[in-house]
Amino acid sequence: MHNLLKACQMCPKKCGINRLEHTGSCGAGSRIKAAKAFLHLWEEPFISGEKGSGTVFFSGCNLNCLFCQNYRISQEHFGKDIDIGRLSEIMLDLQAQGAANINFVTPTPYAAQIVEAVAAAKQAGLALPIIYNTNSYETVETIRMLEGTVDIYLPDIKYYSDHYAIKYSNAKNYFLHASQAVSAMLEQAGHPVFDGSGLMTSGVLIRHLVLPELLEDSKKILKWIRENLGAETYVSLMCQYTPLYQAVSHEEINRTLEDWEYDLITDYFFKIGLENGFVQEHSAAAGDYVPDFDLLGI
Ligand code: SF4
Repeated sequence: MHNLLKACQMCPKKCGINRLEHTGSCGAGSRIKAAKAFLHLWEEPFISGEKGSGTVFFSGCNLNCLFCQNYRISQEHFGKDIDIGRLSEIMLDLQAQGAANINFVTPTPYAAQIVEAVAAAKQAGLALPIIYNTNSYETVETIRMLEGTVDIYLPDIKYYSDHYAIKYSNAKNYFLHASQAVSAMLEQAGHPVFDGSGLMTSGVLIRHLVLPELLEDSKKILKWIRENLGAETYVSLMCQYTPLYQAVSHEEINRTLEDWEYDLITDYFFKIGLENGFVQEHSAAAGDYVPDFDLLGI
């Protein structure tokens, strides 16, 4: 694992930085940094279950989305340094609280440490599905490294157009990398499988946050999914966009999504033959989904 951190290539940014001595552009160094671990009730019902998804929010991020609802941890890097042993304990704590699964949010910079921490936790009795909840800016190599560790992938495909990916998230070739990574996830984990109680136990559920003014981009993403991953692919269409963080200084995205915009995308979803879509209530707003980052459970 140390070798992977010595010249970090964990994500498409491929900084090559020695994280044993320095911090990467994502904010991650040699130790894991996290801001909260708790039972999260606001994921899709088959992820949260009745008691909640055992969610671990990591600090730092390999994207710089100027509308990030979790900017306090992703961009301002609020959090606490922990070691691999503590991450294993956190998973076991969440299991003891009744978590439906272990849900790693923004895990990419810590993928190598996660592999070790999950292995140690399983040896100590962890028996829950492991979720990798990612912005999709991943390398295929990292996804392959996660085989045998991750059961469920929740990749958020954000953009089709490079123009928007660079403008809003400072990410070059975003869709190229995201599409290859999501294809590798599907090859590895397959389409969703559910247990008798309706909880998802393995597979890939793609998420897409619909942004104001980017409706054509949303359509291109859905069309790509239909043509390349199959009609049965599970997709969660999110309408919770709220202009937070630096989005207030970009007029075109300094507003919430209008009902007709979300309806247009959900109609398009079924029109092109996709079968398994999940929609949010129109009243959903990001503020409702942002936890208080208080180091609880860390
Ligand atoms: S995970 Fe962080 S340090 Fe590693 S390549 Fe990506 S941005 Fe750079």
